[in-house]
Amino acid sequence: MKTAIYPGSFDPITNGHLNIIERASRHFDRLIVCVMENMEKRPMFTNLERVDMIREVTIGMKNVVVDSADMLLADYAREHGGTVLIKGLRAVSDFEREFQMALVNRNLNPELETMFLCAEHKFTFLSSSVVKEMGKYSADLTDLLPEKVIPAFQNRMKQALGG
Ligand code: ADP
Repeated sequence: MKTAIYPGSFDPITNGHLNIIERASRHFDRLIVCVMENMEKRPMFTNLERVDMIREVTIGMKNVVVDSADMLLADYAREHGGTVLIKGLRAVSDFEREFQMALVNRNLNPELETMFLCAEHKFTFLSSSVVKEMGKYSADLTDLLPEKVIPAFQNRMKQALGG
């Protein structure tokens, strides 16, 4: 069984992430979407909330599993039989960091290969932080976040802004 892992902070999951999940899952027997606990210092959503949201929007994808981890990705992959790490690339700025991480991970776990998927054109500008910035000013989030995530995001944003 070929297992790939798609790690990230997913705070919250965006349509850009979802696009990578849909595309990557077609090429593997199992895709584990893994919320990495130590990636965001002050997250908007708890790990459990992020896991729940990802589960909700991937419910129809039978080979997608959602998990969270607080350990080195190279070790997580070894423990879960993952041989491929999936990363989404939006721009050259993503590449530099991801290239370095890929080398580090392969050094720690030589069985582990990092594969990059180019972001879909319409999502190249999209990141969780862009969504947060737009959410502050009540912008329309329909094209940015999965429909099921929008109410939870708007509630949390209201709380954060003290409303
Ligand atoms: P961000 O907070 O920037 O959205 P994450 O840590 O949640 O970042 O991202 C997890 C993975 O998803 C990374 O490999 C990142 O490059 C990728 N990714 C994030 N947003 C997009 C997007 N809009 N299109 C494609 N890949 C993306």
